[in-house]
Parts: sequence; structure tokens; C-alpha cells
Amino acid sequence: MKKKLVVLGSINVDHIIHLKTLPKPGETLMGEEYLLAYGGKGANQAVAAGRFNANVSFLGAVGQDTIGQEILKQFIKDGIDTQWIKMVETKNTGVAMIFVDEQAENVIAIYPGANTEVDEQYIESCRSVLESANYLLMQLEIPLDAIIKAASVAKQNHAKVILNPAPARYLPPALLSNIDIITPNETEAFVLTGVEVIDETSAAAASSVLHEYGIETVLITLGSRGVWQSVNKIGRLVPAFKVKAIDTIAAGDTFNGVFVTELLNDKTPEQAIITAHAAAALTVMRKGAQPAIPWKYEIEQFLN
Ligand code: ADP
Repeated sequence: MKKKLVVLGSINVDHIIHLKTLPKPGETLMGEEYLLAYGGKGANQAVAAGRFNANVSFLGAVGQDTIGQEILKQFIKDGIDTQWIKMVETKNTGVAMIFVDEQAENVIAIYPGANTEVDEQYIESCRSVLESANYLLMQLEIPLDAIIKAASVAKQNHAKVILNPAPARYLPPALLSNIDIITPNETEAFVLTGVEVIDETSAAAASSVLHEYGIETVLITLGSRGVWQSVNKIGRLVPAFKVKAIDTIAAGDTFNGVFVTELLNDKTPEQAIITAHAAAALTVMRKGAQPAIPWKYEIEQFLN
């Protein structure tokens, strides 16, 4: 039987404006292009996994609004099991406002809406699917209590727990000690460890701090430079593919979703990183979050 992935996380609808430069405080600028796209780190990572043919169930919440319904329909097209998703009466589906400049830099503000209703009680109601998981993949756009509880349920049932600690925030050691694989970018690694990641030596130092919590595998994503992979304190740089980036939204999400799916497919972490780099390279060449996430055949074509 195919191994099972559970993704626990956020669902948002993204309003994206592309501009020449990002607006400064007090400034109003005219955009060049507007895109409405489905996003949210949790949703993006599940979509990346689903399009790569993972056996994936999603845990999270939407509002009882039209956009929430449309997002769930798209999830089904992307191969994601939606039966556990909570429909929240009192709040709307999460919203993200995103500005992207010509250098592909972005600034994001989020109104989490229904995502704030993903609580411990909800996780308890999803216990049976969590107990059936081989891998649990999470990020930090939903309440921390739910993340801590899900990690503990998954761990008790011998699932591997992967945390993409984004957006950056302090995390309690009780959560970190239940994590098998952590995938911060440079900013997130700094917040978690106090080490500024600027080169291989500092990447190794930041990884060491995370290993001290009992985390076996640390992957620090370094944008166009690739990823620092550290397993039990032995580290190496795995370069990214050289492509022309136009919008890096969902690069890290695609990386995480495809990386974990390759582990589900019994690939080695080294092989999984190469496939995830290829998928993320395709994502940065396209605009938006979920519209940019590639399908399996596209990743295979890119690698051939
Ligand atoms: P995040 O989006 O979480 O900040 P990163 O920017 O570190 O994550 O990127 C995650 C992954 O996406 C990288 O490890 C790499 O595989 C890919 N990636 C990001 N930016 C580029 C780029 N400019 N060119 C090629 N690959 C990229």
C-alpha cells in the first residue's frame, strides 16, 4: 500500500500585485499586474505533494464562503483528500495580500480567518487519520497548540514529523523534540538558533543548535544557492538548479511538499532534495503560489 502523508496547515486566498518596486510606508504605487490565486503554506505544500502523486490528506480549515468551496474543489483536482477539513461558520477563509517587485522580492500580510480555528479539539477529531500517517508535514501559519498536539499524536504512532518553521517564531523545546526533520530558510534558522546563516560554517553552526533538540535532519533552504543538508551533524551544500526566477512565492512550499513525497516513495534524502530542487526551480519561473506548483510529469521532464 502507498505510504500516507498528512499535511496540517493553513489555507489562504492570495491577492497578488506585481509592481516595479515595493511600496514604502505611506507610499501608494500603481501595480503592473494583479493575480488572485490559492495559497497558504499548508495548502501549497499539500498541492505540491498531491501533484507529485502523494497519498495525501489535508487537515485545516476554510470559511463557509464561496472561495472556501472553490479551494476544496481544486484540492480534489490536485489529488488531495479533503474529508477532514473543517468548515468554519463564523470566520471567512484566510486571506493574504502579497506585493512582488521586479527582483522577485515579496512582502506579505495575512488575515488568518478560519485558520485560527484549527485547535487542539479539532486535532483530536482527526486522531484516526493522524494515527494512520507515515509522515506528518506542518508549518507555523495555524495555532501552535494544534501543531504541538498533532506532532505528539503522530510521534506516538511512529510517524516521521517534518516541520517547515515558517513564518519564523520561537518554538518550545517540547515541540522541537518531537520533530524528525526541520526545514527553515535562513531567516527562520536565525530566529530558531540565534545564528546568522551566511555561509557553510554558520549553516553548520545553526544546524548543530537544532540537532541539540534531538532533530535528526536539518535542511536550511538558501534560495537560489540551494539547501544546507545536515544529518546527525554531518553537513553539505546541495546546490539549486540555475533558472531565471520571476516570483519566488511558494518555492519553499514546493520544496517541502515534493521532498516529503519522495521520502514516502522510499527515496533517499539526497535523491529527494534533487527532485525537490527541480520542482522549486519550476515554481520560481512562474507567478503565484498554487498556479506555479508543477505536476509530476513537468518535474520529470525538467530532470531529463
Ligand atoms: P522560502 O521560499 O521558504 O524562503 P527559499 O527561498 O530558501 O525558501 O527556497 C526554497 C527552495 O526553492 C530552494 O532550496 C531552491 O530549491 C528553490 N529556489 C528558491 N529560489 C530559487 C532560485 N532563484 N533559483 C532556483 N531555485 C530556487
